[in-house]
Amino acid sequence: MILEEISSKNMEIVENTQKLKAELIEAGKKLAAKNLLPATSGNLSARFENLILVTVSGKDKAQLTEEDFMLVNYRAEAVEDISKKPSAETLLHSLVYENYPKANYIYHVHSSASVILSKKIGANKEILLENYELLKALSGINTHSTTEIVPIFRNSQNIASLAQDVKQFLSVKSDIHAFVLEGHGFYTWGATHKECLRHVEALDTLFSCEIEMMKLN
Ligand SMILES: [Zn+2]
Repeated sequence: MILEEISSKNMEIVENTQKLKAELIEAGKKLAAKNLLPATSGNLSARFENLILVTVSGKDKAQLTEEDFMLVNYRAEAVEDISKKPSAETLLHSLVYENYPKANYIYHVHSSASVILSKKIGANKEILLENYELLKALSGINTHSTTEIVPIFRNSQNIASLAQDVKQFLSVKSDIHAFVLEGHGFYTWGATHKECLRHVEALDTLFSCEIEMMKLN
């Protein structure tokens, strides 16, 4: 490759990651405003070629800047700036990108509704979302008359073993839009930034509805 081509390729990488960073910064602001990313929790990522652009851990997601991201490979290892530490949970992002070729964005939020509902139902069980008009906000669903399964996995600080549990589930049932970690939060993904945001908001609302329904029973 001649020098000119190399520098134009670099420019392209900078421009493309800038666009993705702007979308993730906007997602951070919107989701934090809804209290879905309390106290620096959660993480946001976007697929970038064969790499993942992800938020570094410990940042207030309402105030992300372009410096608060890093590029990692699918083994969750830093590929540019090795002084930045990726979140251990990045392995779960890799798993989703590997299993869902159409997923280009993953938002992991610590929504109170997912925390409460998963503690109530328990790990290794499933949340069944049925007959909600809002299910149509999930990509590929065009009727309320359906059942969306959201698996709940036991929370663990051992992300490699957690990733193994998720992988095993996906090998049997992959047509899901999200999964929940018990007492922790949920992961959802989308082809675009807007679709991923829509999934977060719809699922958080549906989990809240399930909690309210339980109160009436
Ligand atoms: Zn988390």
